Amino acid sequence: MQGKLQQVYRVSKELGQNSLFSGSFQLSQLSRLSSLVIANGAEIKLNFVFSTTAYHHPSITGHIDTELLVECQRCLEPMVHPVSLDFALLIDASDDDVKSFQMDTVYTDDGYLDLFEVIEDELILALPVISMHDDPTCNKHWQPDSVEQVVEKNNPFSVLETLKGK
Ligand SMILES: [Zn+2]
Repeated sequence: MQGKLQQVYRVSKELGQNSLFSGSFQLSQLSRLSSLVIANGAEIKLNFVFSTTAYHHPSITGHIDTELLVECQRCLEPMVHPVSLDFALLIDASDDDVKSFQMDTVYTDDGYLDLFEVIEDELILALPVISMHDDPTCNKHWQPDSVEQVVEKNNPFSVLETLKGK
């Protein structure tokens, strides 16, 4: 059975129906994520299912596809950050369950789950810490005293190498 994408679900109603939900919505509908990336009118495509059997605990599992635009930290030009990620989350799990399942949980508000918030959290977690174009020469004005060299300088192992050399 195929269900329609909506923002809020009553979890008890969806659990056990094995409905596969799929659809898409606009990046602009996620304000926290929008403030972290460059607006590009991205469409966020997803499909997911509520289940009690997949993990023997109420859960939501699914897949997200989109293309976000982030700033390259070398040339400060936009670069595409493709996202294709699977997620599997318990619903309203106790701390003990989270530990024993080794899975994260989402929490409902009185039995209602805000799906957009769940998806937004997953996408924010998947953002690169440092984004740079694959092309190391994307910034023609890049100075020799580059980030790579700073990293090298601060690397404790390179300090050891220097000591060994003495
Ligand atoms: Zn770049």
